[in-house]
Amino acid sequence: YDFTSDDLVDLGEIGRGAFGSVNKMIFKKTDKVMAVKRIRCSSVVDEKEQKRIMDLDVVMKSNDCSYIVQFYGAIFKEGDCWIAMEIMSTSLDKFYKYVCERQQERIPENILGQITVATVHALNYLKEKLKIIHRDVKPSNILLHERGDIKLCDFGISGQLIDSIAKTKDAGCRPYMAPERIDPEFSHKGYDVRSDVWSLGITLMEVATGKFPYQSKWASVFEQLYQVVQGEAPRLTRHYNGMDFSEDFCNFVNTCLIKEETNRPKYKTLLQHPFILLHEQLQPYVHPEVASYVVNTLESMANCGITQFTTDQPAI
Ligand code: ADP
Ligand code: MG
Repeated sequence: YDFTSDDLVDLGEIGRGAFGSVNKMIFKKTDKVMAVKRIRCSSVVDEKEQKRIMDLDVVMKSNDCSYIVQFYGAIFKEGDCWIAMEIMSTSLDKFYKYVCERQQERIPENILGQITVATVHALNYLKEKLKIIHRDVKPSNILLHERGDIKLCDFGISGQLIDSIAKTKDAGCRPYMAPERIDPEFSHKGYDVRSDVWSLGITLMEVATGKFPYQSKWASVFEQLYQVVQGEAPRLTRHYNGMDFSEDFCNFVNTCLIKEETNRPKYKTLLQHPFILLHEQLQPYVHPEVASYVVNTLESMANCGITQFTTDQPAI
């Protein structure tokens, strides 16, 4: 797609993050509905970074991994950067909060298995094929579709930017960052995929148990980061807060949460883990289950007046 902002009609805001907002928009020429992320660039993205995004543009258009949100293109307009991508139905943060907090239920392990398979394959694909390290793995960057698809988004925008925002963001921000990211003394050399593996562990634990695994009321950002660096790594157990989890799932999560970076596995090892192998094997049968679980939950959210989610259908 080659387009300018004049070719897009805004259908309203889907969500808001540290970088700016994400809106649902329709591409007039084809009636295609997309999600457009608008980043206020002038302040944070210099020309070099713009060029990098444009290069990414070329790379991402050729993406052929079904676990990654499709990228349609980037536009720079008056110092703003618009990133047009495939629109999904909801993100995992909204989804699990509804299931765990409103419905007082939990996401079934079958579904957690598919989320894990999709995310590990997506991260491995980014690294192996596109030479990209994600750097911002968290529930809001894992998206779900009513078709039953689970996809990763928001990679490669700017590593430095993500790091600085994650470290300085107000205390409402939860640290998904690995200890070696917070305190470079723990770090070996540059950014390693294993820091994303840690974030995946935190993400899975949060989504599975319905609660962020670290205490969430901190006196200061410093205290919050100190806990990750100095405290013990979170650990998922077979019986956790009155919930049961399989041995394989606990082991997978705890493996991602090995505190010492050099002992933490990379994707090649993770892809051989029994939890992954089991759910890959189940995948063809479970896919329709994921679809109906997502559809039913979104319907129930809508009945509660939570209509933040979106569909590919153009608004009438
Ligand atoms: P964050 O990921 O930190 O929440 P973002 O600006 O990346 O902030 O996104 C804001 C929200 O917009 C996300 O939480 C998600 O719910 C929603 N969102 C982002 N991208 C898409 C997309 N492609 N399709 C549907 N919803 C999206
Ligand atoms: Mg995001």
